[in-house]
Amino acid sequence: MDKNKKSNKNKGLLISSIILMSIVIILAGIAIFYITKDEEKDEKTLAYTELIKEISYGNIEKIEMTVGSTNVKVKVKDVEEEKKSIVPNTEAFIELVQQKVADGNDIELIQKPKSVLMQLPATFLGLLPTFIMLGLFVMIFKMQGLGEKGKVYEDTERKTKIRFKDVAGLDEEKEELIEIVDFLKRPEKFTKMGAKIPKGVLLYGKPGTGKTLIAKAIAGEADVPFISMSGSEFIEMFAGLGASRVRKLFDKARKLSPCIVFIDEIDAIGARRTSNSGAETENNQTLNQLLVEMDGFSSEETIIVLAATNRPEMLDKALLRPGRFDRQITIPNPDLKGRLDILKIHSEDKRLAEDVNLESIAEDTAGFTGAELANILNEAAIIATINKHEDIENIDIEEAVKKVTVGLEKHSRVYSEKDKKLTAYHEAGHAVVSRYLETQTDVKEVSIIPRGVAGGYTMYKSDEDKYYISKTEMQEKLIALLGGRAAEKLVLDDISTGASNDIEVATKIAREMVTKYGMSDNLGPIDFQGKEQNDMFVFGENIGDKIGAEVKSLIDKAYNDAQKLLIEHRDKLDVIAQTLLEKEKINEHEFKKIFE
Ligand code: ADP
Ligand code: MG
Ligand code: ZN
Repeated sequence: MDKNKKSNKNKGLLISSIILMSIVIILAGIAIFYITKDEEKDEKTLAYTELIKEISYGNIEKIEMTVGSTNVKVKVKDVEEEKKSIVPNTEAFIELVQQKVADGNDIELIQKPKSVLMQLPATFLGLLPTFIMLGLFVMIFKMQGLGEKGKVYEDTERKTKIRFKDVAGLDEEKEELIEIVDFLKRPEKFTKMGAKIPKGVLLYGKPGTGKTLIAKAIAGEADVPFISMSGSEFIEMFAGLGASRVRKLFDKARKLSPCIVFIDEIDAIGARRTSNSGAETENNQTLNQLLVEMDGFSSEETIIVLAATNRPEMLDKALLRPGRFDRQITIPNPDLKGRLDILKIHSEDKRLAEDVNLESIAEDTAGFTGAELANILNEAAIIATINKHEDIENIDIEEAVKKVTVGLEKHSRVYSEKDKKLTAYHEAGHAVVSRYLETQTDVKEVSIIPRGVAGGYTMYKSDEDKYYISKTEMQEKLIALLGGRAAEKLVLDDISTGASNDIEVATKIAREMVTKYGMSDNLGPIDFQGKEQNDMFVFGENIGDKIGAEVKSLIDKAYNDAQKLLIEHRDKLDVIAQTLLEKEKINEHEFKKIFE
């Protein structure tokens, strides 16, 4: 390209832009100086541990973060001025806050886009206009097409210290991935042999199962750079930038090869290409670029692309073709041994008291992900601190498990006597009904102390990981879920909104029994949720009505069964409700005793 010619043509435009920009810059510079100076004056800092404590007390109203920065601003309840804090691991912190919000805490989390200016120390502020000026020059040159194309993106590109030993459980998955480590270390060995190494590996699994962790561990084991980006970053990007970022990412990978490229949340860019509406077209460009890049490098280049998603069904089929992500590995939730190993790893740096039994905690946490288990131990450490315990005791961990599952106890919530009675009978209803159902696990604790959004709760002992659930078990689950509502109706002859979550869960189970697991006798073993078919077309116009009727009859039957059980065991229902009104909580042993 003839650069001189082009720059002459644009000179006029360039100069006038610069004059205009200079004015803007000076004004902006002054404004920024004052804004930041002001903030400096009246902000106090809050230590990270304090911040965590305040969050767990429910004292934080608002958290303001800037992408890429570890500085946060927080608004503490009843404190006028906002405080500053530094968060060592922002990703984990955001997860923690989101967990709190999910638990019903009222925290407003604001994530602002990156603003380099705000992070600069005050001494640099004087030089600010110069920086901006330089920046604008570069920008203008780029707009004229004279500079380098595209925008420089940030990514995490460093060698990680994470090794396979840091990833607990997942033995088979690690075994499968060790081949990739080998390849990254000694590519010649493979190419000489003519062996075909996968270019792309897709990791499927729920959030928090360790996909990112294992991807980093591969890079760590092979001692190669780990270059990552997240698909969700593209969603709010300007038109055309997505594709150019993908191109940049792979340019960098080529320079750093051998290396790992990790694309998190790939479903955000790799969603099935469907219509041609604006956002979709943009995503298509990004996706197309990704496909081009993946097809473009040869296996000699020693780049392995790892991608993660928890929504495999969303992905465009083109991504899964040979030479792209032709290997897929499912990352499951940890089983009993996996959970124990994860708990061990994450308690290594914590002081556990003698009475802590990690085995029994692993048993109690079937279905939990690695991230949730790590979170439980962190919460336990916080709870132990608050309780002024020397080490983390078993009760701290048990409390943490409850906090993570049902939310934090709210002793302060004021309760009318009528509400209290209603809650007591509601929870007693669940507990009594499940006691008489063969397939339901034992009751671990019943409580009418509000926790999170729940007014009370009935906790069951956890089930060891099962592969299959029988129809009887699902039917009985429905009965147990509706036991709360049935008790309200039976005793108080009135019903409340307290059962809304039970009803939601029950309806979902009943619908799945009919449409997914083929458990309805009338409709038979048919998948009515099939993505490819249009139900109305395949099964006739009335199919929706028929499904609805089946779901309703499952629920009706379960509700009737619950009522029958409660009428039959009314004495137990009364005893338990009464005990709850007196003591607020009944544990496993006390519960069993009542039935002896
Ligand atoms: P994902 O990418 O699947 O959402 P991550 O890899 O980000 O999950 O996991 C989040 C955190 O949970 C990890 O940083 C780690 O602390 C913990 N974790 C998850 N799985 C495991 C595991 N198998 N072994 C040890 N820690 C784990
Ligand atoms: Mg992840
Ligand atoms: Zn309930």
